[in-house]
Amino acid sequence: MRALIFNKPGDLIWQEQKDLQLQGPREAIVRPIASTTCDLDRLILRGEAPFTGPFAIGHECVAEVVDVGEEVRRVRRGDIVVVNWHISCSHCDRCQTGRPNSCRTHQTGAMYGLPGLGDWGGTFSDSIRVIEADFALTKVPIGVRPEIVASAADNLPFAFEFTIPHLRAVPGAEVLVMGGCGSIALYAVMFARAGGASRVVYYDTDPARLDLATHYGAEVVEGPTPRRAGSFPIVIDASAQADSLLCAIRSVEPEGIVSSVGGHFLPVSMPLFDMYRTGVRFYTGRGRGGPNVAETLQWVADGRVDPSAVTSQVAAFDDAPDVLAEPSLKPVLARPPIFQPS
Ligand SMILES: [Zn+2]
Ligand SMILES: [Zn+2]
Repeated sequence: MRALIFNKPGDLIWQEQKDLQLQGPREAIVRPIASTTCDLDRLILRGEAPFTGPFAIGHECVAEVVDVGEEVRRVRRGDIVVVNWHISCSHCDRCQTGRPNSCRTHQTGAMYGLPGLGDWGGTFSDSIRVIEADFALTKVPIGVRPEIVASAADNLPFAFEFTIPHLRAVPGAEVLVMGGCGSIALYAVMFARAGGASRVVYYDTDPARLDLATHYGAEVVEGPTPRRAGSFPIVIDASAQADSLLCAIRSVEPEGIVSSVGGHFLPVSMPLFDMYRTGVRFYTGRGRGGPNVAETLQWVADGRVDPSAVTSQVAAFDDAPDVLAEPSLKPVLARPPIFQPS
């Protein structure tokens, strides 16, 4: 099998590796058929994230099931599935209470496609080994094309997680989204509008992303980030930029919620006393992934959202080194499945 190895920015190669085998009765071997970059991968590929190669890159894919252990019940060979980005045991208290991204059994942060978090491989590779397959795999609904939901392991449910539950708590709320780091902000606009936000305001400096935010129904504002952008009950910072994060915090109404979903690799000085006075509820963290995948897929299957506009190109897996080296918002590498669905 081949694994796509990130060595350094501009240096991605296919590397021959030993074929993967099942190592336990609850495992599966899956073959990615639609893989894409997480917004974090874009930063890694540009040399703007603190991860150095070589390592097998990628943690967002739809795959076909190639082999399953004898205790796997929910999927079988030929099924088309989303593969959770995180590595989880399925049975610890955190996995059992909707926090499998913080599984207690495995190394903190264990996941595909990053170095130093366990040798789990990357989702651009020809195959990956999935432990606890019944817990980690979610079938893609019939009629949903894999390349449309290639991001359904991570960025897509990440955006769902920080929009829909908040809108259920405050129906019709106005939402502010600070864009800048890639797809999550645009998916957040999409979910916010589909989820009943009466108004979504989107800030960014990139014309292409601003056009996409307009496509998804946002009022867009181009240009330098202001000190404050108004007063919103729900604010999402997906900028990965300190000035935008601070604008987000200043733009939440009393008792409102700010979710910061873009990785800030440098310390940011937070106006904690102002936040104390206004009662800002601030949340940051990686998306929970697994618990939100099925509902996210259902929103796509029902036609309530269509994430396809964010996909910047669809290319063949063989071309991955060149395609991923290019600046591209959300490239998807695709290939047909080998097996017939069950
Ligand atoms: Zn990610
Ligand atoms: Zn666990």
